[in-house]
Amino acid sequence: MRLVILYDNVGQPPFREGWGFSVLITHGERKILFDTGADRLILAHNLQSLGLDLSDLTDLFLSHPHCDHMGGLSYVLERIKRVRIWAPEGMARYLRQRMKKVKAELNIISEPTDLGDGLFSTGTMGRTVREQGLIVKTKEGGVLITGCAHPGVDFMAERARNLIGSRLSLVLGGFHLEGVSKNRLKVLVSRLGPVTEALAPGHCTGREVTEFLCASFPNVVPLTVGKTFSWEENT
Ligand SMILES: [Zn+2]
Ligand SMILES: [Zn+2]
Repeated sequence: MRLVILYDNVGQPPFREGWGFSVLITHGERKILFDTGADRLILAHNLQSLGLDLSDLTDLFLSHPHCDHMGGLSYVLERIKRVRIWAPEGMARYLRQRMKKVKAELNIISEPTDLGDGLFSTGTMGRTVREQGLIVKTKEGGVLITGCAHPGVDFMAERARNLIGSRLSLVLGGFHLEGVSKNRLKVLVSRLGPVTEALAPGHCTGREVTEFLCASFPNVVPLTVGKTFSWEENT
């Protein structure tokens, strides 16, 4: 299993940074794009700089309907022939209008769902912003990927752990914690400790919060465009 950050708030040349998030995951026969970033030109530039393309994409996983995760959608749909889309509740109409020319199978997710081949959705969570997280099972444990984690990264991680029945090896993505109080952060860290071995904060986590996490959690890898993670697959 290989995971590459395509779009993030932080990136150094030759990559371009921008507010938004997108990750490309290769897992066995599946090639999954998690979210699409905010700007199709930045997404295209970073894919090109990484020598990657989306023509053989099998799955498009959309975490939640915010423009910094959906902005590259038109770019993606222009490049793929057929794809399975996994989207949270509330996005069906929006997507049906945009995927007319693509042979896409649209799956709207509400409950926790087995997506096949060791991939799972946490199910749509949260009261204000409805969001789902993607779980990939590897030999070293589950990896949870979050878009913004609006429902709370600790709640999403707990659900992911319960779903696969073991501690996660990594929680990666936007944690949406900018401006959150130190007390809430301390509670968050104490809740994440039993649930995951490592954290990879990116996107909307915020610089100060990322520094706090680095100082208070044992294993933290801040994200940047182009960052790549690999695991042995669970076969
Ligand atoms: Zn976001
Ligand atoms: Zn968001």
